[in-house]
Amino acid sequence: MKYIVALDQGTTSSRALLIDENGKLKGVQQKEFKQIYPKQGWVEHDPNEILSTQIQVFEELVSSISPEDIISIGITNQRETTVIWDSETGKPLYNAIVWQDKRTSNICDQMKKDGLESYVKENTGLVIDSYFSATKIKWIIDNVEGVKSKIKENKILFGTIDSWLIYNMTSFKNHVTDYTNASRTMIYNIKNLEWDNELLNYLGIPKSILPKVINSSSEFGHFTYKGLKIPINGVAGDQQAALFGQACFEDGMVKNTYGTGCFLLMNTGKFFKLSNNGLISTLACSFDNKPNYALEGSVFIAGAAIQWLRDSLKIINKASDTEKIALSIEKLEDIYVVPAFAGLGAPYWDMYSRGAIFGLTRDTGKEHIIKATLESLAYQTKDIIDVMEKDSGLKLTSLKVDGGACMNNYLMQFQSDLLGSEVNRPEIIETTAMGAGYLAGLKSNIWDKDQIIKNQKIDRSFNSKIKKMEREMMYNGWKKAVNRTFNWIEK
Ligand code: ADP
Repeated sequence: MKYIVALDQGTTSSRALLIDENGKLKGVQQKEFKQIYPKQGWVEHDPNEILSTQIQVFEELVSSISPEDIISIGITNQRETTVIWDSETGKPLYNAIVWQDKRTSNICDQMKKDGLESYVKENTGLVIDSYFSATKIKWIIDNVEGVKSKIKENKILFGTIDSWLIYNMTSFKNHVTDYTNASRTMIYNIKNLEWDNELLNYLGIPKSILPKVINSSSEFGHFTYKGLKIPINGVAGDQQAALFGQACFEDGMVKNTYGTGCFLLMNTGKFFKLSNNGLISTLACSFDNKPNYALEGSVFIAGAAIQWLRDSLKIINKASDTEKIALSIEKLEDIYVVPAFAGLGAPYWDMYSRGAIFGLTRDTGKEHIIKATLESLAYQTKDIIDVMEKDSGLKLTSLKVDGGACMNNYLMQFQSDLLGSEVNRPEIIETTAMGAGYLAGLKSNIWDKDQIIKNQKIDRSFNSKIKKMEREMMYNGWKKAVNRTFNWIEK
């Protein structure tokens, strides 16, 4: 048997997964690493620890097989996180600045004041935010001693985590990234598919430090391991890898990851669609040398609302209890929980909204609140899918789901009822790693598109069981509730 190894470098852990040539998952290794919080709002990782944990889990994973049987490696990674290193020694000049890090909010404010919002949106597909790599790179150049002088000597390289891993795994030979990771930097022009000179000039980022951008399924270099040269043949940022891992290959296909937040991506094919509703446009994986485009939207508080029931209200013991509880109660009055704990994101964008419960009566019990909280994940998902349909002009064909909360059958049935479309939960919910594996396997010619589609085994399909009118009534209630939370706190 031959294998593909998928490396999944996430925000809290590094993982390695073994996929056999039949597309079956055969093993997983995982190692957590340190989260570094130097100041309020700052989040860093040690790039060397990222690398060492990633190599460790790789070695543990392949210890049971013969390394000659590894066909190739695929990499998927936490997106936007920024590393700057010395090209000769391979030493990082600063810790990795993690996507969550807010230290560059002031640089973003200045960009907005300088009128760059529409330029950034039309050329990078993004909204100006400290989340993306651009302002993190600028911060390192301007604040870390020695970086500017090394730039003059041409000894500095920038990379997102994929580039950092590949540079080291190829013994400093290859400085590359893929389209999906490049599209999260806020300096990559997704219309022209090249680094954006205007933004580079504005931010003072020299082109010489940037990696070469190639297709997600291509030759990224060779990892030298035990005297073997194992090709790295697939790379994609985590959400795009999941979109590909779910075989969302056609225009209009959507995947939703139900985790702490929700991450929705819609494949919009070869067309760059700009959102009028605060969604992001981004690059996705494809089968040819031109990337596809995708619309992306996220829900801030999804599984986090379930954690709130457990940790703050203490009315459930564990997240999965919500399924039984929701199923056990009769539909009473319509109760809505709007978990706008930190304001509302797409499509409302109201930072001054706060959470609320609507429709309480004398009969309302904690079970009703639990059920309504669970349902809020589905309502927020519908909010985003509706604007994705509007922005793209495409109709949702079916929703493919993954992430921890997709195991909740009540939630999935409710989601299907609310959307009036099929919701499919795959057998293997490791969709991110599978996506990276598929990209590598495609380039290594062991799989093709049809085989990947065939490998999509559905664990369970949910189909809507309610009438259009009932669906509309439920959703109107939600809209009314959300509207009443607007501008709750004083500006
Ligand atoms: P992340 O990757 O963001 O940490 P996961 O994909 O591991 O998230 O999913 C965990 C989240 O999903 C938690 O917020 C948890 O509350 C929620 N969750 C997990 N299982 C269930 C379930 N059966 N029903 C509802 N919510 C769940």
